[in-house]
Amino acid sequence: MIPIRTVRRTMRWLAACVMWTVGPTDLARRHLRRRGAVVVLALHRVLEDWQLERTNSLSGIVLRRITFSRLAEWLSRRYQVVDLGRGPSGPTPGQLRVAITFDDGWHDTCAVALPVTSALRLPITVFVCPGLLAKDRPFWPERVVAALRANRPGATEAEIETIVEDLKYRDPAERDATLSREGQPEAASHPAGSADRTLSWGQILTMHRTGVTFGAHTQTHQILTAVDEGVAASEIRESRVALESALGMSCALFAYPNGNHSAATRALLADAGFTEAFTMKRGAWMATSDPLAIPRVNLAEDDITGPGGRFSRAMFEYMVFWRVWRTSRASAPAQ
Ligand SMILES: [Zn+2]
Repeated sequence: MIPIRTVRRTMRWLAACVMWTVGPTDLARRHLRRRGAVVVLALHRVLEDWQLERTNSLSGIVLRRITFSRLAEWLSRRYQVVDLGRGPSGPTPGQLRVAITFDDGWHDTCAVALPVTSALRLPITVFVCPGLLAKDRPFWPERVVAALRANRPGATEAEIETIVEDLKYRDPAERDATLSREGQPEAASHPAGSADRTLSWGQILTMHRTGVTFGAHTQTHQILTAVDEGVAASEIRESRVALESALGMSCALFAYPNGNHSAATRALLADAGFTEAFTMKRGAWMATSDPLAIPRVNLAEDDITGPGGRFSRAMFEYMVFWRVWRTSRASAPAQ
């Protein structure tokens, strides 16, 4: 029997191909361009195939290198890829503007993604957590997944995903208790040990010298709406201070961990001197957007590949521009 997930994926791909052929996707793209939109893509990890076998990151944050390569090539041919470090300069005629961002500061952003974007001269922005750099398995979701895979071999990916999602909004102490209950396999003794590393300061400085823009993503990846205001304030402030002192320049860009923000967290960001902050809410950056709540489009392998697993332009255009346009129409104030 064909798994339901495969059937759904195929149906979605067929719908995307029809939209691509008939024209609504193109219409959405032209509307966005006329409104001076910047569509900001939110990526996390780009992995070589051998790393896919070894990572404990969930599939919702992973792209294969070959898929990213084809995506980057498509972007370079079809769109104006802008550097967020220079700030978008208002509506421009010509191609629709797109920005490429990476969250978390994974080692593969430098080792796998950067060679692809550098070869095509595409600017990227990377949001890092200064308190979690140069570590083998710094984020708790990978530690939970590693523990669950080791202790519950029968658990499906969907079950594991549900557990991780549920733990996101629990008290950090409760999360730690779950981890110690499950037992944490040591990164070094586990085959995934080296696949889930974060960038070092050395790599960040090298990337910075080649023109990569850096922004903050809190000090230790706390979900700002789930911690005390005092903790949120120091997570925000410390991340900016650490980045600025390492890079020797002002750092005014921020991405909310998990995209979560509130009026209180936006005020804390403004106090700390950040001028632009990016969420995970699907949408485009327009002149009317709150600069401290700029929408992005999260992309993972399933979002932009067809049933054969190859990058699909039709899927990308449908998942990004059609959906973004539909969202921005729904949220536009009534005329
Ligand atoms: Zn993150």
